[in-house]
Amino acid sequence: MIIILKPEVDPSGPEVQQILNLIHLHGEVQTRISGVTGKERKVVEIYVIGDTSRLPDEEIQRLPGVERVVRVSKKYRLIGRHRDDLEPLGFEYNGLYFDQDSFHIFAGLCAVDTPENVEAMFRALKEAGIATSRMGAYKPRTNPYSFQGHGRKCLPWVFELAGKYGIKCIAMEVTRENHIEEIYQELERAGRPTGVMLQIGTRNAQNFELLKAVGSQEEFPVLYKRGMGITLEESLNACEYIASEGNRKIIFCLRGVKTNLGDPHRNLVDFAHVPVVKGLTRLPVCVDPTHSVGRRQLAPDGLQEIFHAAAQGVIAGANMILVEFHPRPETALCDGPQALRLEELPHFLEDMRIVREAYLARRDLARRYTGLTKEVSHGYPLSSACTV
Ligand code: PEP
Ligand code: MN
Repeated sequence: MIIILKPEVDPSGPEVQQILNLIHLHGEVQTRISGVTGKERKVVEIYVIGDTSRLPDEEIQRLPGVERVVRVSKKYRLIGRHRDDLEPLGFEYNGLYFDQDSFHIFAGLCAVDTPENVEAMFRALKEAGIATSRMGAYKPRTNPYSFQGHGRKCLPWVFELAGKYGIKCIAMEVTRENHIEEIYQELERAGRPTGVMLQIGTRNAQNFELLKAVGSQEEFPVLYKRGMGITLEESLNACEYIASEGNRKIIFCLRGVKTNLGDPHRNLVDFAHVPVVKGLTRLPVCVDPTHSVGRRQLAPDGLQEIFHAAAQGVIAGANMILVEFHPRPETALCDGPQALRLEELPHFLEDMRIVREAYLARRDLARRYTGLTKEVSHGYPLSSACTV
């Protein structure tokens, strides 16, 4: 059950105490109070977990301070949509806004290698007006002898360079709980010149202890990558782990699934699931065309296959793209063969702009045809809140 409070109610005030008293009188349940920052207002909600069957909905609804009581279905209690009657799970982070209408492009290196390459990447993003990037410091590798990432020691100069080029958020994978603390400490030490979105890689999609660790902190948002060999439902349940620990600043990322049926691509592109995840959950949805396609290959029409895959995600309503570039892919220490070249960045961004605009036009068209009267925001103008 979710109890949505009226906007003026103080979460530590007497109205909330009265609600909690009534709830605990009727059942052995746990409660958690948490805020959802919507586009127009901040909503405070009380989550009631456990056997809620004996709770008197109507009595709770009549209490002062209560705006609405929502019975949630068993599936995806916190991240789920539940018949469209809950606020979207949008969030603000370091001046950027993420929800199911927003659109951001996180372009960068698979793995941090040299300061020169990181700087070249950030400089190109700044020139393109983009404030979001990706940089791997901790790399989970199939082969134990492959480059494992520079780890903590690269963080000071990566963060400093990010600040120099106005990068507001870097998606960075963590593979162990203590990486969160390392990132936090190094960001503090550097004077917080940028922000970090903690990435859960596909190989850790069901590492429940790691999921609980990123979920039990609210400092950093989380980019959860779908497990490459598990069902969508299993991945969404894993995401629910993060939310159940308290952190609901989550983005769900599709990145392809592993099967030889996707050959010659590294994974089978699963971007038809963008509207599915947006329908089942309230989370913004990201697509990663790089790890799906897994190779730099120009199609006969002059577009990279990675551009085509990214376009498939964006035209289906994706809210974020995670994509790998490198100034010199042949020297990259990880995933060079699938990195787009830095010179291709302006082309990629222009291509994505076209596709995003096409998606927004398609959404307007659908509204005209379906006669949807409900005010649904048009997303952000491409030039302002969006980073493309
Ligand atoms: C990555 O984005 O750097 C990565 C390793 O991706 P995935 O976990 O999807 O393989
Ligand atoms: Mn990679």
